[in-house]
Amino acid sequence: MTLPVLKPDATIGILGGGQLGRMLALAAARLGLRCHAYAPDTDSCAFQVMRHSTCAAYNDEAALERFADSVDVITYEFENVPAETAAFLAARRPVIPDPKVLATTQDRLAEKSFVSGLGIATAPYAAVASPTDLASAVTAIGVPAVLKTRRLGYDGKGQKMIGVKDDPAAAWSGLRQVPAILEGFVPFEREISVVAARSATGQVECFDVTENEHRDHILKISRAPAAVPGTVATRAREIAVTLAEAFGYVGVLGVEMFLVREGADYSVLVNEIAPRVHNSGHWTLDGCTVSQFEQHIRAVAGWPLACPLRHGRAEMTNLIGTEIESYRQWLDVPGASVHLYGKTEPRPGRKMGHVTRIIPDAAGPQ
Ligand code: AMP
Repeated sequence: MTLPVLKPDATIGILGGGQLGRMLALAAARLGLRCHAYAPDTDSCAFQVMRHSTCAAYNDEAALERFADSVDVITYEFENVPAETAAFLAARRPVIPDPKVLATTQDRLAEKSFVSGLGIATAPYAAVASPTDLASAVTAIGVPAVLKTRRLGYDGKGQKMIGVKDDPAAAWSGLRQVPAILEGFVPFEREISVVAARSATGQVECFDVTENEHRDHILKISRAPAAVPGTVATRAREIAVTLAEAFGYVGVLGVEMFLVREGADYSVLVNEIAPRVHNSGHWTLDGCTVSQFEQHIRAVAGWPLACPLRHGRAEMTNLIGTEIESYRQWLDVPGASVHLYGKTEPRPGRKMGHVTRIIPDAAGPQ
């Protein structure tokens, strides 16, 4: 399908109602574009800033039809949109990025095969669909290893570590024996990510490589630029560009990678691809001349991408669960920008907001 070039009063449909959709809509509004969110939860925080919202299930065909009729193009802020929903909508309006990307990235096995098929390194992995598969995967890969459900895992959910003293069968039962993959444990020194944007005309722009620190499997702090050798940063960006081009991707994608020390150098392994704006790119809202959210909106609107220039060193801290109560302490910190997502219930592990601190470079934007 040829993708349209939107006029500033057009409407972009967004599947999903979380903070990513909220920040996409705010970026769209700055460009005069309207957004219509579609999500099943009544308390979706994205609804607060939308021109239109639909609160309905992802299999409600009547609601999906009305949603498709009311928008010019459709994108998503959430990668677990059911394949049937994406297909139903794609028959009526352009869905960007292409739903085939969802089919690959929703399944860790398909994703790993896609990445390694491009000659890009990943952790060693094997499919696990039975106790026999698990036993042969453990023999082939060894332990420690991580058993992950093929689908619907995020922030460490749907995964179990298998150590030397552990019974692999217990991990498999713990994941309720759903189709899984076993990944060799990667002894990484650092975790990094690259957030890249690709336009329908093939223009690609990457933000600076970002270094990520997780707590309890949830992203806590991102720092940009990552303190890695220039050659490693170049390789990481090349990987993101290769993946975006191989998908024929349109929009923003986040690629999470592990850096493993090899003497004076590092090897770069891809852990996961997020076919959407990514938490490790939130620093771009305050730290760059264009944010990841605006880049995504530009791409889905058929507009040229901006060339991002960084204002300085950036550090983004997620406010998770009850940490949101500390927001006032950040309000008068020099160089800090506070972003609150309008969520009322600070459940454990829930991303409630974030703060970015910028330390300007003496020489100006990079
Ligand atoms: P994921 O849900 O795959 O993004 O994993 C969440 C986090 O678990 C990652 O950011 C890593 O910190 C850790 N992790 C995941 N897979 C592996 C692995 N194969 N080896 C070591 N750590 C891992």
